Amino acid sequence: PYDVLIVGGGPAGAAAAVYAARKGIRTGVVAERFGGQVNDTLSIENFISVTETDGPKFAAALEAHVKAYDVDIMNLQRADKLIPAAQAGGLIELQLANGGTLKTRTVILSTGARWRNVNVPGEQEYKTKGVAYCPHCDGPLFKGKRVAVIGGGNSGVEAAIDLAGVVAHVTLIEFDTKLRADAVLVTKLQSLPNVTIHLNAQTTEITGDGQKVNGLSYKDRATEASHHIELEGVFVQIGLVPNTEWLKGTLELSRHGEIVIDAKGQTSLPGVLAAGDVTTVPYKQIIIATGEGAKAALSAFDYLIRTPAV
Ligand code: FAD
Repeated sequence: PYDVLIVGGGPAGAAAAVYAARKGIRTGVVAERFGGQVNDTLSIENFISVTETDGPKFAAALEAHVKAYDVDIMNLQRADKLIPAAQAGGLIELQLANGGTLKTRTVILSTGARWRNVNVPGEQEYKTKGVAYCPHCDGPLFKGKRVAVIGGGNSGVEAAIDLAGVVAHVTLIEFDTKLRADAVLVTKLQSLPNVTIHLNAQTTEITGDGQKVNGLSYKDRATEASHHIELEGVFVQIGLVPNTEWLKGTLELSRHGEIVIDAKGQTSLPGVLAAGDVTTVPYKQIIIATGEGAKAALSAFDYLIRTPAV
């Protein structure tokens, strides 16, 4: 059996693997796609000490760092089910979609998350060509330009406030008849001179010139009238979905489906830790996911030396 089995090969899983392997314990990583969300990222400019890199380069560097250690990497493998140990110190089982089963004393869950898509024409075509999902990451790319934010919940309104300080103009598009963000954020947003808010508005298309985004079309749901706005960027902020469907009923999840962890990365199950975007940790960023992965590996080691094997 493994001492530490990591599920997920994004920044959190890669950091956990390096930290676990450096303890000299038997470490494995199961990943559907090594690198995770980073593979879909154009430019990364906020991983401290690396002034600028791109997603595929960063993903390759993660893999090279893990491969510098004695770690079993099982890439292109999806985990389907986690079977907890019968008692603390016992073996945990991980079932894979390919029918295989792996046994381990501890597990680190780092299956990440995915941004919810608005599913309108133009969204897929112009991803990373004006369609963005992360204001902390991509906001500065739109300095002095016009952008829209789709979504009027907390993340959409926060994104609009954040972007208003960087870009020339922000249009916030909300499907509902009111913004669903906290009142203090809504008041702040309404006070900003370079923000326009459209309520009861359904985004129907993100338009472009074939190379990059040049506008957004929406329908006024009250009058059914169609409108088009010219702009250079669209931030989709309608939710981040944690990859925990396969864990439902196995361990404690938040009402958003995130794995509930404590300050040490421990979940509700003994010997099962979690790290990164899949957890309740606030602020989903690479540098945070890597720190959380390191923390979970150290917690797994702590569990191993304190819990007699049964
Ligand atoms: P992920 O990167 O999501 O990795 C999850 C891993 O788990 C993957 O290997 C996946 O294949 C695997 N997995 C999922 N389910 C299973 C399963 N059932 N079995 C096995 N494996 C599974 N952050 C920044 O800090 N700076 C940026 O510039 C930046 N830009 C971004 C741009 C885009 C377009 C996106 C989408 C995100 C961006 N982010 C950025 C956010 C950043 O990518 C995430 O915070 C980070 O990747 C989270 O790392 P993670 O390891 O927790 O999860």
